[in-house]
Parts: sequence; structure tokens; C-alpha cells
Amino acid sequence: MKSKLPEVGTTIFSVMSTMANECGAINLSQGFPDFTPNKYLLDRLSHHAHSGKNQYAPMNGIPELRQAIATLTQECYGRAINPDTEITLASGATEALFVAIQAVVNPGDEVILLDPAYDSYAPAVTLAGGICTHISLMPPSYQPDWQQIEAAVSAKTRLIIVNSPHNPTATVFSDDDWLALANLAEKHELFVISDEVYEHIVFDQARNSAHRYPALFDRTFVISSFGKTFHATGWKLGYCIAPPALSVEFRKIHQFVTFTSFTPAQYAVADMLNKYSDEVHGLGDFYRSKRDCFINAMQASRFSMLPSAGTYFALADYSAISDKSDVDFCEELTREHGVAAIPLSVFYKAPPNSRIIRFCFAKREETLLDAATKLCAL
Ligand code: PMP
Ligand code: GLN
Repeated sequence: MKSKLPEVGTTIFSVMSTMANECGAINLSQGFPDFTPNKYLLDRLSHHAHSGKNQYAPMNGIPELRQAIATLTQECYGRAINPDTEITLASGATEALFVAIQAVVNPGDEVILLDPAYDSYAPAVTLAGGICTHISLMPPSYQPDWQQIEAAVSAKTRLIIVNSPHNPTATVFSDDDWLALANLAEKHELFVISDEVYEHIVFDQARNSAHRYPALFDRTFVISSFGKTFHATGWKLGYCIAPPALSVEFRKIHQFVTFTSFTPAQYAVADMLNKYSDEVHGLGDFYRSKRDCFINAMQASRFSMLPSAGTYFALADYSAISDKSDVDFCEELTREHGVAAIPLSVFYKAPPNSRIIRFCFAKREETLLDAATKLCAL
């Protein structure tokens, strides 16, 4: 059979988590918490499952949850969103990203990706018949060079995909970055997908979003995920906020990809947002202490830790320890030293010549300290 994705193998997140499980390694590779979500959220899930909320939810998501998302967006970014025409629930941000890409990319269209880019973007572009234009963000700052990005825009460029706070580099867009993006998109009439799944996990500055930049409103799909926000990655509940005309196209595709998402989770998350939205607003503080715990413990190691301004990831330069490629080093780390991490090169079309890997610190303090003890022995 002719493969539609000949260059694609198994996602690094499955590869590394499988290896970590086989070896009994502490898994700081794939990004997921090793602690339980809020008890109220779990109780509401059970409550709704036991009280009959077990059939298909409306295709766009239940009204209670769409309203709660509109309220949260207003609280966070001061933007009024119409929950009926602009918000669509999806089965994880992954589905929302896939659907948004299918909605705007036609065969032959070019799509700008900033590498290291989350690994689901490029295959979704390819399946839509699009062509990826990769721009490399370079260590150690990974700052976008907007002139270089603009120089890559051609008459065929239709979409740019951005992600702030950024997985895997843990960088966060500045106001200047958002303004540069808005100018670029307006000037060249580009659509924008703004992957904001870590929007609430920022440490050194206020939360920011495409929702704050009016020049982006008419052309942007903003995508987020309750997996990150409520420590429940396995619930696969995400959403897309886009202006009505774009939401219409998004929904045409969403209805035939999954149609709708897990009903009891939608009710439970709506209850959680209505009762404990302070948990969302406190997420940056919550993860800051985990970041500090891990990065401080790693000071005694030969890894050189890069700053983490957002997300629940931290990068580490291992060039003082090994000359191996990052893929080989991650395998050695998992099999021989009992800690799994993610190599950065897999997120690039043209990887820079660096020795940098990603650790996830969405873990209990004891997990982080156990992992740091092993890493300090290298
Ligand atoms: N985008 C980014 C940048 C992510 O890190 C992730 C999850 N790790 C996703 C999208 C997918 O989110 P979900 O699990 O809700 O599908
Ligand atoms: N986004 C998670 C990470 O970056 C993984 C998600 C997945 O496994 N698909 O680790």
C-alpha cells in the first residue's frame, strides 16, 4: 500500500513512554501528570455518569461548558466570545488542531511551522495536501526571527501555526512576538492556528493569548485543552475558539471526525470551571514550584538547565556528559540510568547541532527529586 505519510513513524511520546515502562524508568518524557486531578472534578464525572449523561452530547459541545469557556476567556483576556457560534469542543487539542488544519489547508497551500514544532502539525498538513515551510528556532533562546519568518511567506502561504507557551522549548511569546504575528498575518492575509494548550502555565509574565490582539480575531483558531488545565490528559477534552465563519468550516469537519466528545467529562469540566475557576488562575503558581524544585535539584548535576518560562517542561543541555545524539542519549538515559526524557531533534526538519533534551516536571515532588538524584549521578 502506498503510504500517505511515508516519512512518519511512531510518535516519540509513545516510543519513550513504552521504553520507560519496559525499563521501569521514571518517566519524565511524555507530558502528563503523575498525580490525580481535583477530587471535585472526579466526583462530578462519576455523578454525571450515574445520573444519565451517557449518550451523545451536542455536536459542538454542551451549552453549559461552552458558556463556562466564554466566561473564562473573558476573565483571562477580556474578550467576549459567543459560545454558540465561536466555541466548539473537541476530543483533545489534537483533534481540534487536525480539524482546523483540514478546514483551511487546500492542496498546494504552504503552511509555516516554527521548529521545534509539536509533532502532530506536519502530518495533518500533509494529509490536507499542504506543504510545510519549516523555520528553525535556535537554541539557547529559541526566539522567533519575524523578518526571517516573513521572508518565508510566498504567494501560496495560507496558514501559520504558532504555540505559546511553547512545547518543547518552554518559551513564551512576548507582546512584541504577538504584534509581529498579527502584523504578518494581516499583511499577508494568513490564517493562524494558535495552539495555547499551556496558556495558564506561565511563570514569569502574565498570561497572554491571540485573544488579546484584534488583528488576529478574524483569522485565528485558538486551541486549548482541559487535559493540561485540569491534570487529566486522558480525558481528551479540548476546544477551538474561532470567529463564526471559521467555526462553521471547523464544525463541518469535526462532525465527521469524532462528531462529539465524552459526555460526562463535558459536564464535570463545566461544573469545575463554574465552582473552582481559581484552580485555573493558580496553575502558574502550582507549576512554578514544581519547576523550581526540579531545576534547583538539577543544579548539582552536569546537565545545564535552560530557563523554563511556561509549560510543564524544562530543557537540559547534556553536552558536558555525552557526545551521543539526543535520540541515542535519551535511550541510554532510560535503559541505563532509569530516567526517560524526550530528544529535541525529532521536532525539527533540520535539527541544529545541539545536545538538548526535554524533561516533564508535571510530577509529584518525590518523583522529581528521585529523578534528579539519578540524573546527578551521571
Ligand atoms: N499541542 C501541544 C503543544 C501539546 O503539548 C499537546 C499535548 N501534549 C497537544 C497539542 C495535544 O493536546 P491533547 O492531549 O488535548 O490532545
Ligand atoms: N503533548 C504531550 C507531550 O508533549 C504528549 C501528547 C501525546 O502523547 N500525544 O509530551
